[in-house]
Amino acid sequence: NAVIRMFHVHKRYGAKQALVDATLDIAKNEFLFISGPSGAGKSTLLKLLYLAEPVSEGQILVDGMNLSRIPQRRIPMLRRKFGIIFQDYKLIPTRTVYENVALVLEARGQKRSLVEKKVKHVLRVVGMEDRLTTYPPSLSGGEQQRVAVARAVIGDPKIILADEPTGSLDDDSAAIILQLLGQFHQRGATVVVATHDRSLIESATGRVLTLHQGRLEPPADV
Ligand code: ADP
Ligand code: ADP
Repeated sequence: NAVIRMFHVHKRYGAKQALVDATLDIAKNEFLFISGPSGAGKSTLLKLLYLAEPVSEGQILVDGMNLSRIPQRRIPMLRRKFGIIFQDYKLIPTRTVYENVALVLEARGQKRSLVEKKVKHVLRVVGMEDRLTTYPPSLSGGEQQRVAVARAVIGDPKIILADEPTGSLDDDSAAIILQLLGQFHQRGATVVVATHDRSLIESATGRVLTLHQGRLEPPADV
């Protein structure tokens, strides 16, 4: 029941070996932390999953799709399986909160009335329903990240990837984001959180893997 499988994956950037022989199964509906210091390869591991970067060696299966065999035209289908959250939110500053979230569904050609209903619902879940017409730069970091969570989950992704999601937040805002991730996990999503923040990991439940200079610990039992 693995939704993600990595087999002997290596990633090199030129001479830099960012990921070394990573073998890993992530079960459906697992909550997994990838910990490790800055530069350990956490972002790289996530980027390989949604094909932001190609592997140098090895194989990755996402929901049964072999990423090294997936034709270009099916990459959008792969990306729809993921909701992705970044440390720096990556909201569009010139679009309102509502528009930032709605864009995901509009890009899929969903009907305007349905888009409106869904966007308002998800913004209520993250507690941002009274900020529909606000532009991201006038929100706090914690509020921007809540909008980013809404954008990540609006398409009902199977897998939520969060890359240092609380790295720019105060403790209270971080707790809210972690709690929201827990909520979507309980609704059935697989959640993978990359973070160097030990206190975040200790405040939650879930499997913890650590990267040390590109090597996963504990290593997979194969
Ligand atoms: P982390 O997310 O754990 O901080 P990264 O995956 O961002 O680690 O980086 C792992 C290593 O790969 C680091 O040494 C980083 O400098 C290097 N790296 C990441 N991306 C690139 C890139 N595009 N080109 C060259 N080196 C990179
Ligand atoms: P992250 O740790 O989330 O990847 P960074 O600030 O380390 O964030 O990297 C920002 C961007 O620069 C990323 O696209 C990453 O792939 C790239 N990058 C990181 N390290 C290097 C590096 N040593 N050389 C070139 N590009 C890098």
